[in-house]
Amino acid sequence: MNELLGRVFSFETKVFPNESTLYNQLASHGQSPKALMISCADSRIVPEHIMQAQPGDLFVCRNAGNIVPPHDSQLGGVTATVEYAVMVLGVRDIIVCGHSDCGAMKALATDADLSTMPNVAAWLRHSHAAQKLCRESYPADLDAADKLRNMALENVVVQLSHLRTHPSVASGIARGEIALHGWYVDIHAGQVLGLDGETGRFSVLREGQPLPVALPHGRRLAGESPIAQAAE
Ligand SMILES: [Zn+2]
Repeated sequence: MNELLGRVFSFETKVFPNESTLYNQLASHGQSPKALMISCADSRIVPEHIMQAQPGDLFVCRNAGNIVPPHDSQLGGVTATVEYAVMVLGVRDIIVCGHSDCGAMKALATDADLSTMPNVAAWLRHSHAAQKLCRESYPADLDAADKLRNMALENVVVQLSHLRTHPSVASGIARGEIALHGWYVDIHAGQVLGLDGETGRFSVLREGQPLPVALPHGRRLAGESPIAQAAE
């Protein structure tokens, strides 16, 4: 048997006994995760590991390229997961997390031939805005590593904008109940970078420094603007 698969036997005998109180509490009272994280399926990017999260802490949705299809373009797992996290679990923070050396981003950055993988090609169309932006807005003579990094960072920005097309998210943001975060994990350096929505730039997350936030909690109701009130 695959050595990894064999490890499952120790869950009941070794892992669970140490955490049975937590699991029993979660089983009795249900879950109330503190955040939704949408990250890549890459085996090296483990959200619970990066966040040092316990069972019950984090609602996670993983897919190739940490992509969030815009609402209505493709009803599927990501859309349903986002809706459930917001509507039922009342998640207040949503993190889109990209990473270095991402295979999906590499395919986009290098214009790889994906003709034998039509589903991957179709999925990555949700990142074409980032791909075009990288191609046309950055210097053409960047080396491959910089191109790949830029692609992954811009992809996070694009997926955050897609997230805002989801009605449950848009509504929660307007009421100030949801904040959006764009992160990038540098596997080589062991660092996590966060997007500052004001500047559009990423910086390393450090303890003791303000957390860069893509879109902070804050009421945003256009109808409450002074102009609208004066017109009543
Ligand atoms: Zn990846």
